[in-house]
Amino acid sequence: MHQIGVSNIKKNWGSFVALQDVNLDVREGEFLSILGPSGCGKSTLLRIIAGLEEPSGGDIYIAGQKVTQDPVWKRKIGFVFQNFALWPHLTVFRNVSMGLELRKIEKGELHERVMEALRLVQLEALADRLPAQLSGGQQQRVALARAIVLKPEVLLLDEPLSALDKNLRQDMQVELKALQQTLGLTTIFVTHDQEEALSLSDRVVVMNRGVIEQLDTPNAIYNQPVSEYVARFVGEAFFFEGSVEGNGTAKTLRLSDGAAVPIKGNGVQVGQEAVAFVRPEWVGLSRLDMAFEPGMPKGTVERLMFFGQSSDYLVRLGDRQLRVKHRSDGMEFKPGDDVALRCIAQVLPRSGSVS
Ligand code: ATP
Repeated sequence: MHQIGVSNIKKNWGSFVALQDVNLDVREGEFLSILGPSGCGKSTLLRIIAGLEEPSGGDIYIAGQKVTQDPVWKRKIGFVFQNFALWPHLTVFRNVSMGLELRKIEKGELHERVMEALRLVQLEALADRLPAQLSGGQQQRVALARAIVLKPEVLLLDEPLSALDKNLRQDMQVELKALQQTLGLTTIFVTHDQEEALSLSDRVVVMNRGVIEQLDTPNAIYNQPVSEYVARFVGEAFFFEGSVEGNGTAKTLRLSDGAAVPIKGNGVQVGQEAVAFVRPEWVGLSRLDMAFEPGMPKGTVERLMFFGQSSDYLVRLGDRQLRVKHRSDGMEFKPGDDVALRCIAQVLPRSGSVS
C-alpha cells in the first residue's frame, strides 16, 4: 500500500492553473523530494497534501484512506516550514509541547514525549531556552522536534533548510536523513536545490509549471532525464541535434557540421531527427592528431580553470560553449588548443528543438 496517494489533483486560482492533474504515489518510509523552479507549484502541492489548501479537483489518500475533506489535524501529518515559525515567547520545551497540550495529552506522557523528541534532535540540554537564544540550525531542529513529537505517519518539509548557511545546511541534511531513517517516516521534501534533492532522496519528482515532468530515482533523473527541461534543470547539459545513423546498437547523431556523436538510449530509429546531451564529466578531450575517429566533434579550448583534482575546460564549438570536467591526469590543454571531443551522448526520449 502506498502511504500517500495524490490522485488527479488540480488547483486553479481564477484562470491561473497552478496544478494540472497531478498523480503521485509515495511509498511507506520513502524520502521523496519535489524539485522545481520557483512558482512551479511545489508548495501548493505540499499544502494540499497537508490539508492547508483545498484542491480544485482530485483526491488525497493517506495510508489508503481518502482524506481530501479532512482538516489538517486529522491527517496525522508533521509539517516543517521554511521559516521555522517558532513561538518567540515560548521556551524550546513549550514550542515542542504545544501540539500535545492542544490534544490534551496527560502531563507525564507529554513530558516524556517532548524530551524524547528533543533527544532525537539533540536538544534536550536546551529545553529551557527561548528561540532567540538558539542558532539557526538549533531553531530548525526545534521545528523538526515539534513535528515529530506528534508521531506523524507522514512528514512534509517545505524548504526547511533554505534559511541556513551552506555548512550548517549540509550538516542538517545529514541529520534530517538520519532522523527520517531512524523513525522510518514517509517524507516529502520540497526544494529548489537539485543537489539537496539528489543526495537525500529515494526518488525525486521534477515539476514544471504545475505538472510532473519526471518521477524517478536520483540516478535516473540525472543520467536518463526524459526531457530537455529535466536535463537542464538537474545538472549541466550540452545538447546535440542531428539525424540518427548507424546499425544495430552502434548509433551516432550526424550534426549539421558533419561531425558524428556516438549516442546511447532507447527509442530512436535510424533516419530520425533526435536530440542528445552530455554532462561536463562525460566528455574527454583529445589532441586533434590523436583523434582516432575521423568524425569526432571538434572545438577550441577557450579557458582552463584548475581545481586540483580536476580542471574545467571551456571549449568553443561554433557559437556555443561547452564545459568539460577533466581529471587532472597530466594531459593539459591550454587556451587556443584545438581539440576533439570523446563522448557518448544520451538521447532524450522527448526531443524538441533546443534553444
Ligand atoms: P517557490 O519555490 O517560489 O515557493 P513553488 O513552486 O512552491 O515556488 P507555489 O507557491 O506552489 O510555487 O505557487 C505556484 C503558483 O501559484 C505561483 O505562480 C504562485 O504565484 C501561485 N499562487 C500560489 N498561491 C496563490 C494564491 N493564494 N493565490 C493566487 N496564486 C497563488
